[in-house]
Amino acid sequence: MDAAFFRAWLAEAGTVIESQRDHLTQLDAAIGDADHGINLARGFSAIAAALEQAATPTPGSVLTLAGSTLISKVGGASGPLYGMALRQAGKSLGDTAEASLAELAASLEAALAGVQKLGAAREGEKTMVDALAPAVAALQKAISEGVDAVDALAAAAAAAAEGAQATISMQALKGCASYLGPRSVGHEDPGAASTAIIMGALGDVARRQAT
Ligand code: ADP
Ligand code: MG
Repeated sequence: MDAAFFRAWLAEAGTVIESQRDHLTQLDAAIGDADHGINLARGFSAIAAALEQAATPTPGSVLTLAGSTLISKVGGASGPLYGMALRQAGKSLGDTAEASLAELAASLEAALAGVQKLGAAREGEKTMVDALAPAVAALQKAISEGVDAVDALAAAAAAAAEGAQATISMQALKGCASYLGPRSVGHEDPGAASTAIIMGALGDVARRQAT
Protein backbone atom coordinates (compact mmCIF):
# COMPACT_ATOMS: atom_id res chain seq x y z
CA MET A 1 0.00 0.00 0.00
CA ASP A 2 1.64 3.20 -1.20
CA ALA A 3 1.10 6.89 -0.44
CA ALA A 4 -1.70 7.10 -3.03
CA PHE A 5 -3.55 4.31 -1.22
CA PHE A 6 -3.37 6.22 2.06
CA ARG A 7 -4.52 9.45 0.38
CA ALA A 8 -7.43 7.52 -1.17
CA TRP A 9 -8.32 6.16 2.29
CA LEU A 10 -8.46 9.64 3.83
CA ALA A 11 -10.41 11.01 0.86
CA GLU A 12 -12.97 8.19 1.17
CA ALA A 13 -13.20 8.69 4.94
CA GLY A 14 -13.77 12.41 4.33
CA THR A 15 -16.53 11.71 1.82
CA VAL A 16 -18.39 9.37 4.16
CA ILE A 17 -17.92 11.67 7.16
CA GLU A 18 -19.34 14.54 5.13
CA SER A 19 -22.38 12.43 4.16
CA GLN A 20 -22.80 11.27 7.78
CA ARG A 21 -22.03 14.67 9.28
CA ASP A 22 -25.54 15.33 10.57
CA HIS A 23 -25.89 11.78 11.87
CA LEU A 24 -22.62 12.09 13.84
CA THR A 25 -23.70 15.45 15.17
CA GLN A 26 -27.06 13.99 16.25
CA LEU A 27 -25.28 11.20 18.12
CA ASP A 28 -23.24 13.88 19.88
CA ALA A 29 -26.39 15.93 20.56
CA ALA A 30 -27.76 13.02 22.59
CA ILE A 31 -24.80 12.65 24.95
CA GLY A 32 -22.47 15.57 24.22
CA ASP A 33 -22.45 19.03 22.70
CA ALA A 34 -23.67 18.32 19.15
CA ASP A 35 -20.46 19.13 17.30
CA HIS A 36 -18.80 15.82 16.42
CA GLY A 37 -19.96 15.67 12.80
CA ILE A 38 -19.13 19.33 12.31
CA ASN A 39 -15.69 18.88 13.89
CA LEU A 40 -14.76 15.91 11.76
CA ALA A 41 -16.18 17.24 8.51
CA ARG A 42 -14.13 20.39 9.01
CA GLY A 43 -11.08 18.32 9.91
CA PHE A 44 -11.26 16.01 6.92
CA SER A 45 -11.81 18.83 4.48
CA ALA A 46 -8.73 20.52 5.97
CA ILE A 47 -6.85 17.23 5.49
CA ALA A 48 -7.88 17.15 1.82
CA ALA A 49 -6.68 20.73 1.35
CA ALA A 50 -3.38 20.05 3.13
CA LEU A 51 -2.72 16.92 1.06
CA GLU A 52 -3.34 18.90 -2.11
CA GLN A 53 -0.82 21.53 -1.13
CA ALA A 54 2.09 19.54 0.25
CA ALA A 55 3.99 16.66 -1.29
CA THR A 56 3.43 13.44 0.65
CA PRO A 57 5.52 10.80 -1.08
CA THR A 58 5.24 8.10 1.58
CA PRO A 59 2.36 6.55 3.57
CA GLY A 60 3.94 7.87 6.76
CA SER A 61 4.09 11.42 5.44
CA VAL A 62 0.40 11.25 4.41
CA LEU A 63 -0.75 10.18 7.87
CA THR A 64 1.58 12.56 9.71
CA LEU A 65 0.37 15.56 7.72
CA ALA A 66 -3.24 14.49 8.21
CA GLY A 67 -2.72 14.15 11.96
CA SER A 68 -0.99 17.50 12.31
CA THR A 69 -3.81 19.10 10.32
CA LEU A 70 -6.48 17.68 12.64
CA ILE A 71 -4.59 18.87 15.70
CA SER A 72 -4.32 22.39 14.34
CA LYS A 73 -7.81 22.66 12.82
CA VAL A 74 -10.16 20.71 15.07
CA GLY A 75 -10.88 21.57 18.65
CA GLY A 76 -12.71 19.50 21.21
CA ALA A 77 -11.62 16.08 22.28
CA SER A 78 -11.71 14.34 18.94
CA GLY A 79 -9.35 16.63 16.99
CA PRO A 80 -6.33 16.07 19.23
CA LEU A 81 -7.22 12.38 19.72
CA TYR A 82 -7.59 11.57 16.01
CA GLY A 83 -4.64 13.85 15.28
CA MET A 84 -2.49 11.94 17.74
CA ALA A 85 -3.73 8.64 16.29
CA LEU A 86 -2.78 9.59 12.75
CA ARG A 87 0.57 11.06 13.77
CA GLN A 88 1.52 7.96 15.73
CA ALA A 89 0.43 5.76 12.82
CA GLY A 90 2.51 7.89 10.45
CA LYS A 91 5.52 7.69 12.73
CA SER A 92 5.17 3.93 12.96
CA LEU A 93 5.25 3.64 9.16
CA GLY A 94 8.53 5.56 9.03
CA ASP A 95 9.72 6.35 5.52
CA THR A 96 8.70 3.13 3.82
CA ALA A 97 7.28 3.79 0.34
CA GLU A 98 5.07 0.69 0.36
CA ALA A 99 3.48 -0.47 3.60
CA SER A 100 2.80 -4.16 4.06
CA LEU A 101 -0.41 -5.34 5.73
CA ALA A 102 1.61 -6.14 8.86
CA GLU A 103 3.06 -2.61 8.85
CA LEU A 104 -0.42 -1.14 8.45
CA ALA A 105 -1.61 -3.25 11.40
CA ALA A 106 1.35 -2.07 13.48
CA SER A 107 0.56 1.53 12.58
CA LEU A 108 -3.05 1.14 13.70
CA GLU A 109 -1.79 -0.40 16.92
CA ALA A 110 0.40 2.68 17.36
CA ALA A 111 -2.64 4.88 16.66
CA LEU A 112 -4.59 3.09 19.39
CA ALA A 113 -1.70 3.43 21.82
CA GLY A 114 -1.52 7.15 21.02
CA VAL A 115 -5.24 7.65 21.67
CA GLN A 116 -5.01 5.76 24.95
CA LYS A 117 -1.92 7.66 26.04
CA LEU A 118 -3.59 11.00 25.41
CA GLY A 119 -7.14 10.19 26.47
CA ALA A 120 -6.50 7.49 29.09
CA ALA A 121 -9.62 5.59 28.01
CA ARG A 122 -9.80 1.84 28.36
CA GLU A 123 -12.17 -0.44 26.49
CA GLY A 124 -15.69 -0.34 27.89
CA GLU A 125 -15.65 3.38 28.72
CA LYS A 126 -17.76 4.37 25.68
CA THR A 127 -15.23 6.13 23.46
CA MET A 128 -13.57 5.73 20.07
CA VAL A 129 -11.31 3.17 21.78
CA ASP A 130 -14.28 0.77 21.79
CA ALA A 131 -14.26 0.75 17.98
CA LEU A 132 -10.52 1.07 17.36
CA ALA A 133 -9.30 -1.60 19.79
CA PRO A 134 -11.47 -4.42 18.37
CA ALA A 135 -10.56 -3.34 14.83
CA VAL A 136 -6.86 -3.61 15.60
CA ALA A 137 -7.39 -6.98 17.32
CA ALA A 138 -9.44 -8.33 14.40
CA LEU A 139 -6.80 -7.19 11.92
CA GLN A 140 -4.01 -8.85 13.89
CA LYS A 141 -6.03 -12.05 14.20
CA ALA A 142 -6.75 -12.10 10.46
CA ILE A 143 -3.07 -11.57 9.66
CA SER A 144 -2.03 -14.39 12.01
CA GLU A 145 -4.49 -16.66 10.20
CA GLY A 146 -3.05 -15.76 6.81
CA VAL A 147 -6.12 -13.88 5.59
CA ASP A 148 -5.44 -11.61 2.59
CA ALA A 149 -5.37 -7.81 2.89
CA VAL A 150 -8.84 -7.15 1.49
CA ASP A 151 -10.56 -9.64 3.79
CA ALA A 152 -8.40 -8.72 6.79
CA LEU A 153 -9.31 -5.03 6.42
CA ALA A 154 -12.96 -5.97 5.94
CA ALA A 155 -12.76 -7.92 9.22
CA ALA A 156 -11.24 -4.90 10.92
CA ALA A 157 -14.04 -2.68 9.57
CA ALA A 158 -16.70 -5.13 10.75
CA ALA A 159 -15.13 -5.29 14.22
CA ALA A 160 -15.08 -1.49 14.43
CA ALA A 161 -18.75 -1.32 13.45
CA GLU A 162 -19.65 -3.97 16.03
CA GLY A 163 -17.58 -2.16 18.63
CA ALA A 164 -19.41 1.09 17.92
CA GLN A 165 -22.78 -0.65 18.26
CA ALA A 166 -21.65 -2.15 21.56
CA THR A 167 -21.13 1.35 22.98
CA ILE A 168 -24.93 1.83 23.03
CA SER A 169 -25.29 -0.18 26.23
CA MET A 170 -22.20 1.33 27.88
CA GLN A 171 -22.07 4.16 30.38
CA ALA A 172 -19.63 6.90 29.36
CA LEU A 173 -16.67 7.22 31.70
CA LYS A 174 -14.57 9.60 29.58
CA GLY A 175 -15.21 12.83 27.71
CA CYS A 176 -18.13 15.18 28.19
CA ALA A 177 -20.66 12.32 27.86
CA SER A 178 -19.39 11.05 31.23
CA TYR A 179 -21.07 14.02 32.95
CA LEU A 180 -24.41 12.38 32.08
CA GLY A 181 -23.58 9.34 34.17
CA PRO A 182 -26.14 6.54 33.68
CA ARG A 183 -28.14 8.75 31.29
CA SER A 184 -25.41 8.20 28.69
CA VAL A 185 -26.57 4.57 28.39
CA GLY A 186 -28.74 3.83 25.35
CA HIS A 187 -26.88 6.01 22.84
CA GLU A 188 -24.08 5.14 20.42
CA ASP A 189 -20.85 6.98 21.14
CA PRO A 190 -20.19 9.48 18.33
CA GLY A 191 -16.42 8.95 18.33
CA ALA A 192 -16.85 5.19 18.12
CA ALA A 193 -19.27 5.73 15.24
CA SER A 194 -16.77 7.92 13.37
CA THR A 195 -13.98 5.42 13.98
CA ALA A 196 -16.21 2.76 12.42
CA ILE A 197 -16.66 5.06 9.40
CA ILE A 198 -12.90 5.60 9.07
CA MET A 199 -12.17 1.86 9.36
CA GLY A 200 -15.00 1.13 6.93
CA ALA A 201 -13.40 3.52 4.45
CA LEU A 202 -10.11 1.65 4.78
CA GLY A 203 -11.79 -1.66 4.02
CA ASP A 204 -13.70 -0.20 1.08
CA VAL A 205 -10.65 1.42 -0.48
CA ALA A 206 -8.65 -1.80 -0.14
CA ARG A 207 -11.43 -3.77 -1.85
CA ARG A 208 -11.82 -1.18 -4.60
CA GLN A 209 -8.11 -1.00 -5.35
CA ALA A 210 -7.76 -4.78 -5.42
CA THR A 211 -10.32 -5.17 -8.21
P1 ADP B 1 -15.97 17.11 22.29
O1 ADP B 1 -16.33 15.94 23.19
O2 ADP B 1 -14.86 17.91 22.84
O3 ADP B 1 -17.17 17.90 21.88
P2 ADP B 1 -16.16 15.63 19.83
O4 ADP B 1 -17.62 15.78 20.02
O5 ADP B 1 -15.61 15.97 18.51
O6 ADP B 1 -15.38 16.45 20.95
O7 ADP B 1 -15.73 14.12 20.13
C1 ADP B 1 -16.38 13.36 21.12
C2 ADP B 1 -15.81 11.95 21.06
O8 ADP B 1 -14.46 11.96 21.49
C3 ADP B 1 -16.50 11.00 22.01
O9 ADP B 1 -17.65 10.45 21.42
C4 ADP B 1 -15.45 9.95 22.31
O10 ADP B 1 -15.49 8.88 21.37
C5 ADP B 1 -14.17 10.70 22.08
N1 ADP B 1 -13.49 10.94 23.35
C6 ADP B 1 -13.75 11.90 24.26
N2 ADP B 1 -12.90 11.80 25.30
C7 ADP B 1 -12.10 10.73 25.04
C8 ADP B 1 -11.01 10.09 25.72
N3 ADP B 1 -10.56 10.54 26.89
N4 ADP B 1 -10.43 9.02 25.12
C9 ADP B 1 -10.87 8.56 23.94
N5 ADP B 1 -11.87 9.12 23.25
C10 ADP B 1 -12.49 10.17 23.79
MG1 MG C 1 -18.79 17.10 20.92
